[in-house]
Amino acid sequence: MATKFVIEGLKAEIEGKEILKGINLEMNGGEIHAIMGPNGTGKSTLASALMGHPKYEVTAGSATLNGEDVLEMGVDERALAGLFLAMQYPSEIAGVTNSDFLRSAINARRGEGNEISLIKFIRQMESSMKGLEMNPEFAHRYLNEGFSGGEKKRNEILQMSMLDPKIAILDEIDSGLDIDALRIVANSVNEMKNEDRGFLIITHYQRLLNYITPDFVHVMMQGRIVKSGGPELAARLEQDGYDWIKEELGITDETVGQEQEA
Ligand code: ADP
Ligand code: MG
Repeated sequence: MATKFVIEGLKAEIEGKEILKGINLEMNGGEIHAIMGPNGTGKSTLASALMGHPKYEVTAGSATLNGEDVLEMGVDERALAGLFLAMQYPSEIAGVTNSDFLRSAINARRGEGNEISLIKFIRQMESSMKGLEMNPEFAHRYLNEGFSGGEKKRNEILQMSMLDPKIAILDEIDSGLDIDALRIVANSVNEMKNEDRGFLIITHYQRLLNYITPDFVHVMMQGRIVKSGGPELAARLEQDGYDWIKEELGITDETVGQEQEA
């Protein structure tokens, strides 16, 4: 079945404060959607709520992947269903090596009785790491521990490429990446693009979209998608910033939310 991911009227709050105020978004396999927007508008909240982070409480709406409501599922079930999130701030887990983590994640996704053989796993991991120009020693390092910002981001992409998700959400994957790493990460996304897989790429900056051409660009402000368009919308944002959209919508800076250093 072709992949279809539909978010309708999604509202979510954190510690009693409503952040997402009704998000509607429809994605099909083969499509790349970009979400852009000022800091503090709820982009990461959207990613976390979809993935089932316990801190975020969904108060209304639905998110269905091929007709199944993922919001009813536990985090592991969402991963099994094919949702993947590359986090803006990946966690460090001491005591669990990168390769142990990946192998468990892959086996969880494949299901009991269908585990990947060790040899096949090692081959796949080596080949994926090579594609991302990662030093092989990273396989045996503890998950993200002592990794630089850019190394963590590459590691998230390594996980994505090995987990073969249906919907991949990449939250600020470009932050902390130098231009070479950016190109490698973008190549990886472009290579993984196929009819069964959709990408939701959250980014603050247009530069990533020079390497990954989105089919749709959505602007998020104050917990809502306030404007959608094609790649030309990202180009306009690069040139003119967000002020013209705020003006169009009558949003004042005080109501946009805290601007922080990205
Ligand atoms: P973005 O990713 O667009 O920069 P976020 O989704 O991270 O925005 O944050 C949206 C709003 O939710 C911000 O006002 C932020 O301060 C608040 N927020 C996010 N995470 C937490 C948290 N763990 N505790 C309290 N407030 C939070
Ligand atoms: Mg964020």
